[in-house]
Amino acid sequence: MHAYYIYTDMINKKSREKLSRIRQQIYQLSRLRETQLKQLLHPKPMIIGSLYEVYKTCSKANCCCKKGQKHGPFFALSISIDAKRTVKMVKKKDLTVVRKKALAYQAFQQGLARIRKTNKEVDTLLEQIKQEFMEEYH
Ligand SMILES: [Zn+2]
Repeated sequence: MHAYYIYTDMINKKSREKLSRIRQQIYQLSRLRETQLKQLLHPKPMIIGSLYEVYKTCSKANCCCKKGQKHGPFFALSISIDAKRTVKMVKKKDLTVVRKKALAYQAFQQGLARIRKTNKEVDTLLEQIKQEFMEEYH
């Protein structure tokens, strides 16, 4: 009887230490999550897509573009939704605004990815806590 108690005490101590570590990790992650959440609550106007430069050739014969000096840069917005990619040309007068909004979109997407990773980590740790408390009904 005495040996049994020592044995279960050892297990409980180990379990308590493990649980305490997990709880600390969750606490740290929830503080991180709070920061990550704040960065997402008030986004700036966004445009989906990423900007890139385009150089073109024209239809004029003997133009410098035929000898490798292409016209440009022009700017295009590459938009990928559900594995479909479309390209929209961006007018020069819109360039500054579109660039800013496309960057805002990318930043928001990165922020989303970060908070989803944190959520997943918390979820995994909660599963570990659950396992420590699971009992079987006999
Ligand atoms: Zn040309």
